[in-house]
Amino acid sequence: MGVKLDFLKGIREEDPEVYKGIIDELARQRDGLEMIPSENFTSPAVLQAMGSVLTNKYSEGYPGKRYYAGNQFVDVVERIAQERAKKIFGVPHANVQPYSGSPANLAVYMALCQPGDVIMGQNLLDGGHLTHGWKTSVTGQIYKSVPYHVRADGYMDIDEAKRLAKENKPKLIWVGSSAYAREFPFEEFSKIADDCGAYLAADISHITGLIIAGAHKSPVDYAHVIMTTTHKTLRGPRGAILMVTDKGLKKDPELAEKIDKTIFPGMQGGPHNHITAGIAVALKEAATPQFKEYGHQVVKNSRALADELMKRGIKLVTNGTDNHMVLLDLTNFGKGTGIFVQDALDEAGITVNKNTIPKDPASPFYPSGVRMGTPAITTRGMKEKEMREIAALIAEVIDAVKDYQLPEDKEERQIYLKSFKEGIKTNERIRNVRGKVLEICKRFPLYPNLSF
Ligand SMILES: *Cc1c(COP(=O)(O)O)cnc(C)c1O
Repeated sequence: MGVKLDFLKGIREEDPEVYKGIIDELARQRDGLEMIPSENFTSPAVLQAMGSVLTNKYSEGYPGKRYYAGNQFVDVVERIAQERAKKIFGVPHANVQPYSGSPANLAVYMALCQPGDVIMGQNLLDGGHLTHGWKTSVTGQIYKSVPYHVRADGYMDIDEAKRLAKENKPKLIWVGSSAYAREFPFEEFSKIADDCGAYLAADISHITGLIIAGAHKSPVDYAHVIMTTTHKTLRGPRGAILMVTDKGLKKDPELAEKIDKTIFPGMQGGPHNHITAGIAVALKEAATPQFKEYGHQVVKNSRALADELMKRGIKLVTNGTDNHMVLLDLTNFGKGTGIFVQDALDEAGITVNKNTIPKDPASPFYPSGVRMGTPAITTRGMKEKEMREIAALIAEVIDAVKDYQLPEDKEERQIYLKSFKEGIKTNERIRNVRGKVLEICKRFPLYPNLSF
């Protein structure tokens, strides 16, 4: 092997405190199984783009129409990002400036709705995102949110969505969410939106890499507007892309200008040009045959994980998965047990998050499920064989903490959780799993060609 690139030399020499924070986090990422389905590992090239001099430049406006001088090279980079986004998704318009997914979604509202308008999205506790109208998000406060839900079997309740749209005549409907393990019914939702004259916005943040790879249906023929974050299955920097489809332009020929104007000058100032460069690099990588393979492998891995977990007696919401994620229904072990499984897995070096399940018998803060996914571990090169190994480790950890039950009484609960946390630190079975997790991680090194 050649000489490794000393990636953090400057910061190591100049700022040891921050350097330590970074390498401690690197060690955590390297030595554990990152199974939060919204996370991933970017390529070294994407990291380098983010660390570039483009961060120094102000460029309010859009390519060719800037409010500052000296943007001839930033223009080149932003145009590359726009063109790559348009080409890879097959859309006529892309805005690559949103700072992240949440402001991008807010821009969709601001471009299409007036305060007080009715909007519909998947309910947060049913897998939806905060920005789809949840009450603690400004989107649920400025607009009249009429959420739709999933059925008791975990699948989208399309009949309910149809009925709610008919009764409430929303201006905007969201399809796509953060905790749903089945294919999004874009076509069904486009009918619902068309029937009531609503705009349909597809939020493909979680599955965008799968769509690019052809491992999930694309919403391009169905939605008017598409939002994707760039840091999840796309493996880019933290950011977002807002797209307008041909269908969107047909409904409103000014839709693209409306979206652009809402992002700037409506909501944002200068674009993060270093991030734009990272998005462009990620889109180039996503256009390769290797990425296509990656997207399909993410789903194969998720299915292998699901099958092995179910074989080991663990219930899954919808009994399986179509995408990169599986949702564990832990009600067999007691209600509100997601916290025990999440924290015990974390102790074992497997990072997941507790999550509500459909009709959760417990509370949103102490839900009865756990959400996990395969995008990041697939980036490391793991395949079905490792998924079966990991499923066995997850089942072992669940079994090790299955007797913990969440007390009803709130004060008692805190004391109980504290003793639980101490208990898992010294639990032999969990420690044993931690060792095996480390061994798997060593077989699939992260950033093998960089030194830090
Ligand atoms: C992650 C996500 C977002 C928000 O993205 P941020 O970059 O965290 O603001 C929006 N919608 C969905 C469905 C998401 O999964």
